[in-house]
Amino acid sequence: MDYPDRFDVIVIGGGHAGTEAALASARMGCQTLLLTHNIETLGQMSCNPAIGGIGKSHLVKEIDALGGAMGLATDMGGIQFRVLNARKGPAVRATRAQADRVRYKAAIRGMLESQPNLTLFQQAAGDLIVENDTVRGVVTETGIHFHGSSVVLCTGTFLGGVIHIGLDQSRGGRAGDPPSNALAERLRALPFRVDRLKTGTPPRLDAKSIDFSVLEEQPGDTPTPVMSYLGRREMHPRQVSCHIAHTNERTHEIILSNLDRSPMYSGVIEGVGPRYCPSIEDKVHRFADKSSHQIFIEPEGLDTRELYPNGISTSLPFDVQLRVVRSVKGLENAHITRPGYAIEYDFFDPRDLKHSLETKFIHNLFFAGQINGTTGYEEAGAQGLLAGLNAARRARDLEAWWPRRDEAYLGVLVDDLISMGTKEPYRMFTSRAEYRLLLREDNADLRLTESGRELGLVNDGRWEAFATKREAIELESARLKATWVQPGSAAADGVAAKTGKPLSREYSLMDLLKRPELGYADIASLDGEPVGDETVAEQVQIQAKYQGYIERQQDEIDRLKRHEATPLPAELDYDRVEGLSHEIRQKLGEARPATLAQASRISGVTPAAVSILLIHLKKRR
Ligand code: FAD
Repeated sequence: MDYPDRFDVIVIGGGHAGTEAALASARMGCQTLLLTHNIETLGQMSCNPAIGGIGKSHLVKEIDALGGAMGLATDMGGIQFRVLNARKGPAVRATRAQADRVRYKAAIRGMLESQPNLTLFQQAAGDLIVENDTVRGVVTETGIHFHGSSVVLCTGTFLGGVIHIGLDQSRGGRAGDPPSNALAERLRALPFRVDRLKTGTPPRLDAKSIDFSVLEEQPGDTPTPVMSYLGRREMHPRQVSCHIAHTNERTHEIILSNLDRSPMYSGVIEGVGPRYCPSIEDKVHRFADKSSHQIFIEPEGLDTRELYPNGISTSLPFDVQLRVVRSVKGLENAHITRPGYAIEYDFFDPRDLKHSLETKFIHNLFFAGQINGTTGYEEAGAQGLLAGLNAARRARDLEAWWPRRDEAYLGVLVDDLISMGTKEPYRMFTSRAEYRLLLREDNADLRLTESGRELGLVNDGRWEAFATKREAIELESARLKATWVQPGSAAADGVAAKTGKPLSREYSLMDLLKRPELGYADIASLDGEPVGDETVAEQVQIQAKYQGYIERQQDEIDRLKRHEATPLPAELDYDRVEGLSHEIRQKLGEARPATLAQASRISGVTPAAVSILLIHLKKRR
């Protein structure tokens, strides 16, 4: 049957990409359908119940700055929050939250159900309606035809999903869910490049069977960090600790002597796994010199006794999994509630996408999330938001929007994917961004919320909170610049008490804040009232302390922009340009771009490579 209502945007899949895509499109006022296998699994975390971490919290905060759901859902579902790299510079600092998976899911579902313009429907999509290379809608596996202007595919690990436990295989999208085979076949018939990837998850454990007295306790941070710019500590449920256990030589022996029963090592799985989230068999095999690996024993929620042993993802047979687990101190009597497994699935080469995440071959069709070869909820959510936004803009005949590499990790993620593709599950790291000092997790709102507002993604409440904060930062910075401390004054005595050195001349409070030994709390009340909002104080402090570095990165970006018209000589021998990778040399040699701007648009040619070219040209002169 033809469904009577027509939609602007149809999103397939209610995982992390699909929910952000549907919410973004609906926030922009587009009539949006979210079609998913099972409404109960909206926002489900397939693997580890944790959000954020290095590189990833940057993405969560960017989603949040653009009005998305992930940050707030984490604040509503988070049961342990920590700031990683707290002692390092702000560019690499990252917030990580252990989540109660039931509360997280409930928070996402609540936001979806209360979102105007958004319709939910539970059923599997089996086919796409495509006419003249343009998608026109979706057909469910029971034959309902939904018509729409744009379609966003966010099917995760479900396309042609095969689950492996040891040498046993079964078809599934993840444990307990069916695979998406009809849709996978339909997509394989379209002109996209398709390949297989794999990922894995550890067995889950029953807390009753664990001896916590011999494990190291890891409490969350105090005061508790928040994930969303609108987050407040009062939103958090009760906070709990994680624990740390360790594998040992006996564990490794058990794994190594059973590798022939691993689907990875016996050649049954062909898909490539995530390099940075390897299985325990990979770790033991690859790092043979290490006699122990950490296992973080993480609660799955407040109302369950199940635990997630982070660090021992495996596809070994169940009997081996049990021996591996029980070889660990504190886990000698552990009961496994669910076996670990690996899953292999289809993904589509993201080089067949545009920056907007629209496919190059089928107009108005967008892909987001694990289907594009990424791994992780945060990577999926960020792509989902971008795809949903652009699907909505496409439905309204508006130009596509995406952030540049110097504006957002989302810009880095999409640019990396569509220009370089990926051979293994792609995850975000701070090292992937050239302009890390500009792209901090603390300033994602300052970088993106204004654009989000213009795009129609940011509601009035978020906009007002942001505008108030931005104004407070400006006012406080201006106050610190205009407030002078004279030698011999009470304020100068205060500085001397902190630094052990008297002031030799007058300094503004802003000058004093730039000193490494002084923080905002030390100088703000020397003369006048400090701000009460800790996020404003933090921002004023970071901007002051890193001003020089931030300006240098900004200058570099401006310099590259200014030199975009610089010609590249036709006879330039790229093999002689020092610092370029072999791949980039080859690409430039083949394409022979006429200008730096043209070079920068070649897939895989990064801003760092353009900078090297610019230096090389200057040296030639
Ligand atoms: P998913 O979260 O998979 O959501 C897909 C959604 O689409 C589901 O709701 C599904 O029901 C729906 N769907 C699929 N096909 C259809 C259809 N035809 N019709 C209607 N609905 C459909 N990430 C890490 O970062 N680290 C890890 O260690 C890790 N391990 C993992 C281990 C396993 C076993 C699995 C399954 C995943 C793992 N992940 C891991 C990946 C993480 O779960 C994904 O990156 C993330 O969930 C991707 O989000 P997504 O929205 O793209 O897809």
